[in-house]
Amino acid sequence: MNQMRNKRDQAGIACPKCGCRHFYTTHTEPLRDGRLRRRKMCRYCRRRIVTYEVVLPPPSSQRSP
Ligand SMILES: [Zn+2]
Repeated sequence: MNQMRNKRDQAGIACPKCGCRHFYTTHTEPLRDGRLRRRKMCRYCRRRIVTYEVVLPPPSSQRSP
């Protein structure tokens, strides 16, 4: 559930100016709390936005001894 919601939030990012959903990622910076700060730029109007993305750890059920 949480993973689906996270995916949906990332896909729901839209440019505040022109409303498109296509961005170039220009910079990625890991934060101390485990999140990623990404600078993105709209492909069409070049508007720059910053997103904070939570990186989820891989499911432990796939871990093999
Ligand atoms: Zn735009």
